[in-house]
Amino acid sequence: MKAFNNTLFALLTLKCPRCHKGKMFTHSNMYVWKTSHLMPEKCSCCEQPMEPETGFYYGAMYLSYALYVMLFVPMFMITVFFDLPYFEFFISFVVLTVLISPYFFRLSRACYLYLFVRYDKEKSNCVH
Ligand SMILES: [Zn+2]
Repeated sequence: MKAFNNTLFALLTLKCPRCHKGKMFTHSNMYVWKTSHLMPEKCSCCEQPMEPETGFYYGAMYLSYALYVMLFVPMFMITVFFDLPYFEFFISFVVLTVLISPYFFRLSRACYLYLFVRYDKEKSNCVH
C-alpha cells in the first residue's frame, strides 16, 4: 500500500514515473501558457525519456477527456440532486475548467507515461 501511495503522490505532483524524483515539466508554473507544456527531453535524475516516441502523448487526450468527465459528472449530479440552477452549474463548471485545465493537461500526460513506465527503486538513488 505504501508503494501505491508513493506512486500516487509522485503522479499527482507530476514527478518522473521511474524515479519519482525528477520533474516531468520544465517550468513549475503551469499558468504560463507559452511554457506550460514544455517537458525536458530526459529526466534530470534517472534519464528516463519524457517523450519515448514521436506522438506518444496522443493517447493522453483520452485520459484528459476522462478527467473532465470525472469533474463534470459529480458536479452535474450535485446540481440535479440539490435542485440547483443549471446556469450556475454551467458558469461554475466553465470557471473551474479554465482554472484546472493546465493541471489536467499535465496530469493526463503524466498518467499516460505512468501506464508504460514502472517505478525502479535503483534509479531513485540520484541526488536531486
Ligand atoms: Zn526519473
